[in-house]
Amino acid sequence: MQKHILLIDDSKTIRNLVAFVLKSEGYKTSTAEDGLDGIEKLYNIDAVDLIIVDVNMPRMDGFTFIKTVRTQDAYKDIPIIVLSTEGQEKDIQKGMSLGANLYMVKPAQPEKMVRNIKMLLG
Ligand SMILES: [Mg+2]
Repeated sequence: MQKHILLIDDSKTIRNLVAFVLKSEGYKTSTAEDGLDGIEKLYNIDAVDLIIVDVNMPRMDGFTFIKTVRTQDAYKDIPIIVLSTEGQEKDIQKGMSLGANLYMVKPAQPEKMVRNIKMLLG
């Protein structure tokens, strides 16, 4: 069955670019513009198999998004990849300790991202 990926980033350029890669790999893709929009989309989509989330976003940042999602039983096991320009050790540690499965720093190689997604989706 086609896997559904939710992509959350406030940059339209990044959304378009990553969505293009995901779709060309056969993934169904939904996008959201910030953390709050992401939460809303998550609630409205039947089954999201994996989430890719930016860190710096208006209204709700990626870390707050992860924290919010991980406190809810229905979403506590969903694979989350952080995709951020923030590549310092403290950011990576924060993302991972909040419950991200993987932290990728922008610009990420499409091939590497796809490989990581396949690994997380098993
Ligand atoms: Mg951003």
